[in-house]
Amino acid sequence: LKGDNEGFSNAERDVEKALRPLSFKDFTGQEKIIENLKVFVMAARKRGEPLDHVLLHGPPGLGKTTLSNIIANEMDAEIKITSGPVLEKPSDLAGLLTNLEDNDVLFIDEIHRLNPVVEEYLYSAMEDFRIDIMLDSGPNARTIQIDLNPFTLIGATTRSGLLTAPLRARFGINSRLQYYDSKLLTTIVQRSANILSTPIDDDASYEIARRSRGTPRISNNLLRRTRDFAEIKGNGTISMDIAKMALSALNVDQGGLDEMDNRILTTIIEKFKGGPVGISTIATACGDEAETIEEVYEPFLIQEGFIKRTSRGREVTMRAYEHLGISPPNKGNQ
Ligand code: ATP
Repeated sequence: LKGDNEGFSNAERDVEKALRPLSFKDFTGQEKIIENLKVFVMAARKRGEPLDHVLLHGPPGLGKTTLSNIIANEMDAEIKITSGPVLEKPSDLAGLLTNLEDNDVLFIDEIHRLNPVVEEYLYSAMEDFRIDIMLDSGPNARTIQIDLNPFTLIGATTRSGLLTAPLRARFGINSRLQYYDSKLLTTIVQRSANILSTPIDDDASYEIARRSRGTPRISNNLLRRTRDFAEIKGNGTISMDIAKMALSALNVDQGGLDEMDNRILTTIIEKFKGGPVGISTIATACGDEAETIEEVYEPFLIQEGFIKRTSRGREVTMRAYEHLGISPPNKGNQ
């Protein structure tokens, strides 16, 4: 249920597209960020300038890509989308930058994974709307300067801590997206059900929302899968019973934790006596990448109070023992 859209069929991708909010008005939650962005966008438009460069950070699926598209729409500009690892050489970046029109948006996902050489080129592009391109090499080497149209760079990252200081300093707007509460996610589930023309009961939309790890992308995925159950096992309406049946078939537990969340907690308890244990050790024991655990799973488990970070590693809390129905070894210590 996580990750990007890999493995999605074309039809699923179309559905995904249809569910994406296109304007600030359609975007639910992240109120403070949206209020500020509205002001910045209006001011930029009034001056006829591009919006200042924007850095969006936060766990996957909270709406970074969606928000970037909205910003471009609200600026009445085009958006070009790329990602850090795709820009291997300076010429890859130059190709994109020279094709931008006035006030367009260049969206770079996973900006913390930019090649340092490419990143260097980005500095002058962001600051002076200019790039110096090296032509030839050896004795014939010379640089030419290319002026760019004024543009907005939107960088998205799940790991803002990995951004270099010079890059971070070049973003005038810096916003951290937060997990959504169940009420906001209920609104998102109902909006999406409406777009999909799927009838859904109020308690069922809340149940899906509450078990979505605070993440709209997961809400939408769970909604789509629940709709399948409603169409095949029910009468087409997503009722509470159908929602519960689907969520249990999808291994989303009562607390909203998924299989991997539970595997992480169980591993720390059973193999490492509840911790503290380092993230790479947990990753090896769970058969996943340390990076994924740190970016995708851990932030939610920490926010919900299942895990805490200590100087010696990760430790499960009392809440994790209670959740899994395992009695803690020495209660006094938790
Ligand atoms: P990643 O960084 O992994 O690409 P992301 O943070 O960019 O994730 P998006 O792809 O923008 O996440 O959002 C995932 C899906 O969730 C979108 O298809 C969109 O429909 C939905 N979504 C995200 N935020 C909202 C929101 N605030 N209101 C309604 N739907 C939302």
